[in-house]
Amino acid sequence: MASVSRRMATTPETSARMKKIRRERTEPENVVGTMLTSLGLRFRRCVRGLPGTPDFANRTRGWAIFVNGCFWHGHIGCRAGRLPKTNAEFWNEKIAANRARDATKRRLLRGRGLLVITVWQCELRRPGPLERKLRRLLCGR
Ligand SMILES: [Zn+2]
Repeated sequence: MASVSRRMATTPETSARMKKIRRERTEPENVVGTMLTSLGLRFRRCVRGLPGTPDFANRTRGWAIFVNGCFWHGHIGCRAGRLPKTNAEFWNEKIAANRARDATKRRLLRGRGLLVITVWQCELRRPGPLERKLRRLLCGR
């Protein structure tokens, strides 16, 4: 257990905060929500007024975030996104359809002038880099 948390940690503060988050909330969306709050960002969750109902958005600041499971949304190059070998055709079609739907959502949101960020579930295993990415893209926007 100690080696696991050491591998994931980038700073002691981030590590402690993420440990706390894991205790309190387990859903990936909640982890991202807590991270956004800790960055001082304001947002709405599950925004039905926008195409594709982004998991998080701030229309005034012009951004939207989807938190995607690697398997169902077909994260390319990710172990968790690898498709089963049995029923390969079925899975290929299903995941390809999901990817196409995701791409349409992103296009519609960009058409409204929003910055669209996809957070993959596997990124939550390394909260430090994810937090830096979100800070870089969103803070001061
Ligand atoms: Zn992934």
